[in-house]
Amino acid sequence: MPDHTPRLLDAMDAFDEGIYIVSNDYTVEYMNRYMRDIFGDGVGKKCHDVLNQTDMPCTWCNSDEIFKKKKAHHSRVHIESVDKTFYLSEMPVENEDGTWSKLSVFRDITETVQREKNYESSKESYQRLFNHVGCGVFISSKEGRFLDVNPTLLEMLGYQDKDEFLSLDLANDVYQTPEDRRRYTRTIEKKGKVVNYEAKWRRRDGHLLHVMITSNVRYDIQNNILGYEGIVVDQTRRKEQERQVKETYDFLEKIISCSPNAIMAMDMKGNIKLWNRRSEEIFGVPASQALRGMNIRQIFTKRGSERVMEMIRSDRHGGKGRLNAFLFKFDRSPGNQLEGNLSAAILYDDKGEELASVAIFADLKEQLQAERELNEARQHLLQSEKLAAMGRLTSQLAHELNNPLFGIMNTLELMKTEISPRNKRRRLLDMSLSETVRLADMLKKMLSFSKPDQEERLEIDINVVIDELMLLYEKRFRENSIKTTLDLVEDPGLIVASRDQLRQVFINMFSNAMYAMPDGGRLEITTRVKGKLLFITIEDSGTGILPEHREKIFDSFFTTKTESVQGVGLGLSVCYGFVKDHGGDITVASEVGKWTKFTISLPMNN
Ligand code: ADP
Repeated sequence: MPDHTPRLLDAMDAFDEGIYIVSNDYTVEYMNRYMRDIFGDGVGKKCHDVLNQTDMPCTWCNSDEIFKKKKAHHSRVHIESVDKTFYLSEMPVENEDGTWSKLSVFRDITETVQREKNYESSKESYQRLFNHVGCGVFISSKEGRFLDVNPTLLEMLGYQDKDEFLSLDLANDVYQTPEDRRRYTRTIEKKGKVVNYEAKWRRRDGHLLHVMITSNVRYDIQNNILGYEGIVVDQTRRKEQERQVKETYDFLEKIISCSPNAIMAMDMKGNIKLWNRRSEEIFGVPASQALRGMNIRQIFTKRGSERVMEMIRSDRHGGKGRLNAFLFKFDRSPGNQLEGNLSAAILYDDKGEELASVAIFADLKEQLQAERELNEARQHLLQSEKLAAMGRLTSQLAHELNNPLFGIMNTLELMKTEISPRNKRRRLLDMSLSETVRLADMLKKMLSFSKPDQEERLEIDINVVIDELMLLYEKRFRENSIKTTLDLVEDPGLIVASRDQLRQVFINMFSNAMYAMPDGGRLEITTRVKGKLLFITIEDSGTGILPEHREKIFDSFFTTKTESVQGVGLGLSVCYGFVKDHGGDITVASEVGKWTKFTISLPMNN
């Protein structure tokens, strides 16, 4: 057989594995190119010098086994000097001279080892992740059992015993209803996965959880469905927060929408972004139209809007960016002037840039109407007072004239009997008599005029009358810092009365009370039914009435008001007349400097 050795050795240079021959005294006899490239040419040197191993013989080197037992040996070695791991196959080779050498093949497995290490560490990481991740992780079977779950899922559903959990029937024990699980499997099997699938799962204690599942189908190699795997996130708290946010939003929305004032918000170009129900009513523009690209200039006019913006930006009307309520008049359309209190503000972003503006408009149309009504009622009262005064004067005059007139009439009648009908003077006497009769008729008419008009009397609910008046007076009371309390008996029944006269009684009482509380105070109105009488009390925390005045206040022309404009002392006497006319009564109680309480009683209609 030819000696192939030199050629074989040359050929070994082509290998991608290290080939290395060492004599039994550890002298390197051969290194192929692969080994030389890594360790340098070490032929003739001691093995441990070449491989740079400090221990001798190397801890991994199994020379005993190889040289003494003549057995091959395989091991995995890591050579620090080059930071490589090799799969080392060593075998004894007998030389021609009877000595033994060792042939080693070094296969670089550094990458494989690294991969193994990586695999191990990632397996560990996955396990760690599986155990500690903040969401539930599951693997389930197609039939509906959990095959594996992480501790978070166990905890999420309130279980401690994993075996108990794995024995659950998903359709019946975990999903809210079996149909819910069927829906899940139908959905996931359609696309192979679900992302953020919302479902309700049942905890061990029966409570329902809102969960979000992101999972996919597991297939076997024949593409048959094995089951599903994925993650589960507990959304219960988020759902609750969502519900709270929605509730708050709805609440705010309702407040805005039900506000008795128009509430509007605009971007900085004036485009309308919020338009509540009252805005629709006051400006006659439905929200659908206002929010579809309408500009506030189309409502407040260009001039009006610019003026408002100028006022908000200046710091003279409540501070920069704020506009306190002011009386704003503008022509909504030709001949349709709107008047109301407008307050507004600019909203700024974090950087202080203008973001939007918001405005509140309180329409004063109704209030002005109420004030007009109140004025009319007061005029009416004044008129009644005047009429009553005239009436009393007329009645006193009539009474005073009546007696002497009847005296004259009687005397003339007497004289008639003494003068013959044919007597020329008798005619003069008849003439005087007829004139006095005419005068008596006139006096009778004057007397009937002096009585107050008998207004139409209707069935009336006193609470309604009081409520209406409170509406009229609300603003004046507020302006005069008077706090009113109504304590009205529920369902007081009906009285038969003249609404107008009753209103006048109350208006007079309210005016007196206000006059008695120049610095504000308390006004309490109470209604009560006792037997067949309705009692209305009006109590104020005003100046009170001096004991010596209490007797006189219902008299005509009694007043303590110094300025003639304020009163002529007829108010209470007219009220008294009205109430008496209705078969009722008014009484007063008072403590000077503390309070005054008028009690009106009226008969009930039953
Ligand atoms: P006038 O309003 O012209 O004064 P009124 O008949 O209404 O006439 O009242 C007569 C007087 O009775 C008042 O001037 C006032 O002195 C007294 N008076 C009436 N109501 C009150 C009240 N609530 N508190 C204190 N004094 C009152």
